[in-house]
Amino acid sequence: MTRILYLEDSYLRETDATITSVKEDKYVTLNQTIFYPKGGGQPYDTGSMTKGQQRYNVIYVGKFSDEVSHEVDRPGLQIGDKIHCSLDWNRRYKLMRTHTASHLFASLLCNGTGALVTGNQLEEDKVRFDFNLEKFDKDTIQHYVDKANEFFKKDIPVKTYELPKEEALKITGIIKMAEAYPPDVPCLRIVEIVGVDRQADGGTHVKNLKEIGQIELLKTENKGKQNRRVYFKLTDQAPLTVSPATV
Ligand SMILES: [Zn+2]
Repeated sequence: MTRILYLEDSYLRETDATITSVKEDKYVTLNQTIFYPKGGGQPYDTGSMTKGQQRYNVIYVGKFSDEVSHEVDRPGLQIGDKIHCSLDWNRRYKLMRTHTASHLFASLLCNGTGALVTGNQLEEDKVRFDFNLEKFDKDTIQHYVDKANEFFKKDIPVKTYELPKEEALKITGIIKMAEAYPPDVPCLRIVEIVGVDRQADGGTHVKNLKEIGQIELLKTENKGKQNRRVYFKLTDQAPLTVSPATV
């Protein structure tokens, strides 16, 4: 099994690894990985693997049969190869900021209106949210965006840890997706915006709300009788920089 480094430390941008399998000259599994595979509403990471002077671009990462599979752009990698992995950090860090921002926003909106999230997709430049909310107008959504932006000015840490599933499910709001129920595992990974929100989640997040910057509302849409769609994005304001880490 691959050791999942992005769950242990989402700030790891580089690591050494050993190739444990190669299929069709382009689908590679590793003994450990920093690459997040597409899933849970968060897009896959991109980056590169280098073997000696040879560079292979990682163009897609997915999870298949419970293994993280990295697709590279050309043949040449072999089982047993020692390689060095690097993330496209600009893309990943933006996704981390957006992901944590979307948890905070959903928490404020759901707690304030009683809505449940019916869909959520992060993209590199924006985030899409679907809610089942009967009464809906742009001012209400803008109100929660403004409220979220107040939180992003505060020094509030974000922690991740595991809880036994039974204990986790007693926490109100831990599952925000209307139809999601937790996978068949004994423990759930919890992402906690300290004092504000806890959600079961397997994605990558920033360590502090201050890193997010600010968000702006792009669009609101009606999608059927109760479904509402909201798009927002990070503003261009630069977040705090963080120091690199390697394993
Ligand atoms: Zn999430």
